[in-house]
Amino acid sequence: MMRLERIVRASARIHRANYSSSAVPKTKLFINGQFVDSETSDWIDIHNPATSEVIGQVPLATQSEMEAAVKSCEQAFPAWSDTSILNRQQIFLRYQQLIKDNLKELARLITLEQGKTLADAEGDVFRGLQVVEHACSVTSLMLGETLPSLTKDMDTYTFRLPLGVCAGIAPFNFPAMIPLWMFPMGMVCGNTYLMKPSERVPGATMFLARLLQDAGAPDGTLNIIHGQHAAVNFICDYPSIRAISFVGSNQAGEYIYERGSRNGKRVQSNMGAKNHGVVMPDANKENTLNQLVGAAFGAAGQRCMALSTAVLVGEAKKWLPELVERAKKLRVNSGDQPGADLGPLISKSAKQRVCSLIESGVKEGATLLLDGRNVKVKGYENGNFVGPTILANVTPDMTCYKEEIFGPVLVVLEADNLDEAINIVNNNPYGNGTAIFTTNGATARKYTHLADVGQVGVNVPIPVPLPMFSFTGSRASFRGDTNFYGKQGVYFYTQLKTVTSQWKEEDATVTSPAVVMPT
Ligand code: NAD
Repeated sequence: MMRLERIVRASARIHRANYSSSAVPKTKLFINGQFVDSETSDWIDIHNPATSEVIGQVPLATQSEMEAAVKSCEQAFPAWSDTSILNRQQIFLRYQQLIKDNLKELARLITLEQGKTLADAEGDVFRGLQVVEHACSVTSLMLGETLPSLTKDMDTYTFRLPLGVCAGIAPFNFPAMIPLWMFPMGMVCGNTYLMKPSERVPGATMFLARLLQDAGAPDGTLNIIHGQHAAVNFICDYPSIRAISFVGSNQAGEYIYERGSRNGKRVQSNMGAKNHGVVMPDANKENTLNQLVGAAFGAAGQRCMALSTAVLVGEAKKWLPELVERAKKLRVNSGDQPGADLGPLISKSAKQRVCSLIESGVKEGATLLLDGRNVKVKGYENGNFVGPTILANVTPDMTCYKEEIFGPVLVVLEADNLDEAINIVNNNPYGNGTAIFTTNGATARKYTHLADVGQVGVNVPIPVPLPMFSFTGSRASFRGDTNFYGKQGVYFYTQLKTVTSQWKEEDATVTSPAVVMPT
């Protein structure tokens, strides 16, 4: 079968499976291996951010639907955790191939619901796919430790064992990548998984669930519910859920961390950011300006690792006019249009919020060098577009600096030297990512050691680690002890059991009870 034909057929099949056939497609729930209609009377509209057109609806799952989903996870757990690790690995090996085969179709769905450009949406799937590929190394990642001969005839060894039912709560900005940080890592370790995608972009997760079923995941190993606060509270409170992976805003993440932890669950919570790009005057100017512009405005700034704050050090302050010229050249358009560099924001309220933060900057004394608030996109007049915006002369006390803007807005601060720049970065509460642009190794080394930020790029603007490492945001950008994916992801989704065994030769019989602590 031709590749295109295969994609079209798969898409039609998935669409039929995931949505009801009403006028506005209604997203289904995925319970015990079945894509089922919700019986709820509460539905949320899903909009195409480029047109504001309603393209679907997502249910707020009822209490009994959420219970059915988690019970399905509970029932599937004994057999799944007992399935040989090689068989679990085989399912994820097939899964990664299916994701590759359907990458373009998944990207198309992401662009439709989330708005980002098709090329960026492919990157979204691709970075998630890499986590699935990494999950296939589970046979190495789950190895325990051994130490022989602790005393005569005695050995100690550890097993890494799954926890039980785990749950994931995802944000809107990476509809494929972030769910793929969650359930594949949890499941390959032998857990069953309850997933709650963002109610604004549920389509990619539903598509991914169908592909996982096609790859051979048994019924009940993955269940999907939809909803908002009630679904989140359900996950935080339900007794058999052992661990929660959350990615999203601080408001939700702090709440989920507190509530989930109070109920005795493991919680890993990746949250908001304010990522600084420190530009040294010795940096390669051409590369640095291009990297800054790409990392500030790509995905319309809706990335937790967007480089949303530039700190120009010394003579680098003079580069501002060229930075503005480059930003002006970016093309704002619907994400599915050829040549689009950035698409719309997710919603009308997101646009309103971004515009009011720009306005606050102006009111508080910043200089608006480039204003994207009135951008017009021909044919998409109802879209939530904001063009690249640059606020200069920003100071740390301004609202536009203190808040995560999550839009295509670059705020620019100035520093006289590296120490001053480091001070600015370390006084900001967030610690997700940062980058330094320099050609001086000693400067780079000093920065990487002194910047109190979890992920540092040296001439790399968005240093999101590949999945053999872990995503290591820190300070206000993360709550928990164990990070997403990499070895840390396996540690999060497993618990250790330590076995100490003694096998004596027959003639080495224990002749009297040992009543003191063995030494
Ligand atoms: P969000 O917090 O609004 O939503 C995330 C999830 O939490 C959704 O599933 C939503 O239903 C739920 N939720 C929303 N508000 C809630 C509340 N008050 N109580 C309980 N649950 C709630 O986040 P978003 O707008 O979808 O995503 C953008 C945010 O995510 C940004 O702050 C961004 O920096 C952050 N993010 C962080 C990372 C990271 O790895 N650090 C990655 C991507 C996005």
